[in-house]
Amino acid sequence: MKSHAKVVVIGGGVVGVSALYHLAKKGWGDDVVLLEKAELTSGSTWHAAGLLPLFNMSYSVGQIHKYSVNLYQELEKETGQPVGFSKVGNLRLAMNDDRMDEYYQYAATAKTIGIDVRFLTPKEIKKLWPLCNIDGLVGGIFHPDDGYIQPADLTQALAKGARGRGATIYRKTQVLAIEQTSSGAWRVKTPDGDITCEHVISATGNYARKTGEMVGLDVPVIPVEHQFIVTEPHPEIIQRQKNGEPELGVLREADGSWYLREENGGFILGPYEKGAPCCYVDGPDPRAEYELFQEDIDRLAPHIEAAMSRVPAFGEVGIKQVYNGAIAYTPDGNPIIGPAWDLDNFWLNEGHSFGITAAGGAGWQLAEWIVEGEPTIDMLGVEPRRFGDYATKDYLIAKNEEAYSHVFVIHYPDEERPACRPLHTAPCYKRMKAMGAVFGQKFGWERPNWFATDGMEQEDDWSFRRSKWFEAIRKEVANVTENVGLLDMTAFAKCRVSGPGAKKFLDQFVANSLPRKIGGLALAHALNQNGGIHSEFTIRREADNSFYLVSAGAFQRLDHDYLCKQMPRDNSVQFTQLTRSHGVLVVAGPKSRDLLERVTDTDLSNDAFRWLTSQDIVIADAPANAMRVNYVGELGWELHHALEHQNQIFDALFAAGEDLGLKPFGIRAMDSMRLEKSYRMVGTELSIEYSAYESVMDRFVKTDKGDFLGREALLASKDAGLNNLLVTLEVADVDNADALGNNALTKDGTVIGRATGGGFGFRINKSLALGMVKPEYAAVGTTLEIEILRKSYPARVVPDSPFDPKNERLRDVNDANK
Ligand SMILES: Cc1cc2nc3c(=O)[nH]c(=O)nc-3n(C[C@H](O)[C@H](O)[C@H](O)COP(=O)(O)OP(=O)(O)OC[C@H]3O[C@@H](n4cnc5c(N)ncnc54)[C@H](O)[C@@H]3O)c2cc1C
Repeated sequence: MKSHAKVVVIGGGVVGVSALYHLAKKGWGDDVVLLEKAELTSGSTWHAAGLLPLFNMSYSVGQIHKYSVNLYQELEKETGQPVGFSKVGNLRLAMNDDRMDEYYQYAATAKTIGIDVRFLTPKEIKKLWPLCNIDGLVGGIFHPDDGYIQPADLTQALAKGARGRGATIYRKTQVLAIEQTSSGAWRVKTPDGDITCEHVISATGNYARKTGEMVGLDVPVIPVEHQFIVTEPHPEIIQRQKNGEPELGVLREADGSWYLREENGGFILGPYEKGAPCCYVDGPDPRAEYELFQEDIDRLAPHIEAAMSRVPAFGEVGIKQVYNGAIAYTPDGNPIIGPAWDLDNFWLNEGHSFGITAAGGAGWQLAEWIVEGEPTIDMLGVEPRRFGDYATKDYLIAKNEEAYSHVFVIHYPDEERPACRPLHTAPCYKRMKAMGAVFGQKFGWERPNWFATDGMEQEDDWSFRRSKWFEAIRKEVANVTENVGLLDMTAFAKCRVSGPGAKKFLDQFVANSLPRKIGGLALAHALNQNGGIHSEFTIRREADNSFYLVSAGAFQRLDHDYLCKQMPRDNSVQFTQLTRSHGVLVVAGPKSRDLLERVTDTDLSNDAFRWLTSQDIVIADAPANAMRVNYVGELGWELHHALEHQNQIFDALFAAGEDLGLKPFGIRAMDSMRLEKSYRMVGTELSIEYSAYESVMDRFVKTDKGDFLGREALLASKDAGLNNLLVTLEVADVDNADALGNNALTKDGTVIGRATGGGFGFRINKSLALGMVKPEYAAVGTTLEIEILRKSYPARVVPDSPFDPKNERLRDVNDANK
């Protein structure tokens, strides 16, 4: 057995073998090893139904699936090993208008990624799938390019391709322990000896948490039981085969939560049942190869009935076999692909519930990340660090069962799922609830999304179109614009970076200059090596060698891990986590100064308290740091405080603010207002797929300050010519739906970009979108078309910040005190 390798992949399911194949393809073949405790495919892979659905609402996962489907079609040619790819197409039915809206929104994402998807009427469905009863259908979509594959053959083909490039696979070799040596290398221990390597990839399927334990990681993966039924042959299918008719495509009735495909003259029915339990919660037995569980027909019954009424022929055949196997799950149902937190060179490729479909793309991006240092597509949707330490075992059991049972629900853009809530609440949570807050959840925190007032039901109203909360946020925005509003942003990620080396480190970590003066603020971005934007921080200089950093709540682990991994290892810089000890209340609006003046002695005039500065102030005896910034484009302050003082501050503000019109507002109003200011958001407008110049963040990039992470690549990208530019678009003629992001932007029918976000701007009374377009379409005045729920609307490029372009309101230029 080899004693050294560059990379050791643990796990010989389709996911691990694909990672090995792609590393070998990148030229590392002689230096990569895969260890499998039993036989290749002996985990979940062997019993998978092999479906390859291209459909996925996530931009990241969509690209991963597309890559896989393309790769698998070429694999047999490349390796000589058949993979059993049946390109029969995939038909998804819609039984109501909301489902059609979901397909419309999905189709826009598909168009920007380049996935072929066609809309069908019930009649066309009948033609394509003659055994389908079309009663109650409003339509459907068809993917001609997907189908199903033989998972074991696919794995063998990938293994052959990897071996052919020099990679080594050791079967019957269990990893018993993983240790880190003093030099930082990994030592992977097996009964046959140790392998010392630079990188470890964990691709251990249902064993993910067990493997994580070996290195102290609490991996957010627990499998759920998943069943499918194989039936006896049906005479009509046999007859179709005899007639030489094409195989029927995979049929999905999302509203009945099942799929159906042909198998050996009969059918396979796969449901996503309610009440399917988690399994292996403390890890499978080490010898649990090829394990199946007892079938649960009761759980299958409603789906069998639904399938029988949709496809009566299915009800006419006997059940041959039921498979009930473990399928790995994460709390949101997407896999985790990328670096582990807190560890160097330890990679996770786990939590795959559509692992046959995702294996190709996951291996491709991991190999890019490991060999080249960065992935090439936006991986936020599958980032391992999108979950935090709140994802305990109990949390995972509840959320993973929920994710499984929600596979076929309508994926509304504003959906908020109920399991494990509330988990973390800000101290003002109950007060906000009493004021009508309708909450959402981010990174475990409850945050008011909007406020139900004037007798409205305190319940969300999910939709792809303008819904009940549209009018509610109109009122919230109006109050922030005319009076003053309060927003709870306690969920922000917060930390302190301090020590003698802090300034030097941060200066080379972010692209902007650091605030020079104590109390100064800067918006700064940490790029990746390719010059794309990885993280965004508001940085407050607290002292010569101490900086307070605020970033998006959803990216707490991601941002902090990225930062900590770049820190020098000589103890000259210290990191302090402050997220759970510090709260943030934002007061914004023209009367925010009047309000604060009533509760603090600090001089808040423009001269004494300038925009983009901060000061320690006292509110009702509670210390707070007031930062004169906000994300809504009004005069305002973020009040950062120790959590134990939150309600003191909250109560003082509301006691003082009634006659000023102080009212709370939520995240959705904030989002509308940030669009009107063309403020970019990480994860949509800002991503590693686009350079900082493409996102038009030039004013936050100081290339003349000296070296910083990503500088060289950023400058090179500019020299080579930018591929995209971010623009603000005014969308005309819409009445009940706005862009949601991932909308195709076209010119004369050709896709020339994608909207990254969109919504309604109440202060300017216009529908807006932000989007990435090819530079030749970025000039102000250019008219494009934007696709919203399958209708095309004119979209005109307008100057950034259509509301208050000179920032007069947030700088408060009319203030008498200025
Ligand atoms: C009933 C059913 C139907 C499914 N249908 C589909 C489908 O139609 N389409 C689709 O895309 N997906 C489907 N899936 C999901 C799919 O099977 C999985 O996503 C996929 O197989 C995951 O592959 P993997 O390589 O991550 O895990 P696995 O195939 O489980 O491989 C992990 C491997 O790691 C090995 N291992 C673990 N610990 C160690 C250790 N310490 N040392 C060495 N080796 C170790 C295990 O022995 C195992 O072989 C289905 C799943 C089920 C249960």
